[in-house]
Amino acid sequence: MSAKRGGAAPAGRSSGFKATVYLLHFDKPYRHAKHYVGYTALETLEQRLQRHRDGRGARLLQVCVQHGIGFQPVRTWDFKSAEAAREKERRLKSSGGASRYCPNCKEEKR
Ligand SMILES: [Zn+2]
Repeated sequence: MSAKRGGAAPAGRSSGFKATVYLLHFDKPYRHAKHYVGYTALETLEQRLQRHRDGRGARLLQVCVQHGIGFQPVRTWDFKSAEAAREKERRLKSSGGASRYCPNCKEEKR
């Protein structure tokens, strides 16, 4: 079930490790939040999203679920180390404008 691209990796400790940073776009804003940036390393993105939908993930997304606000992944970035992924996550959050990276929001100009 593994999608390999780019040839065989040496059988080292970290072979095949993948961390994914993801950007979620909310169907409608919750207060000032319209996006969520997170990252997952041990689960696939789908497993992670399922957990969010079950209310077992981030607090913000629990609240969205409670308010009937749906969310969908609009962008992902893959990294080979958790550190690189965390740094990207941090940068996206601190830039304060995740919508800049959101293909859904780019199109609608206000
Ligand atoms: Zn968006």
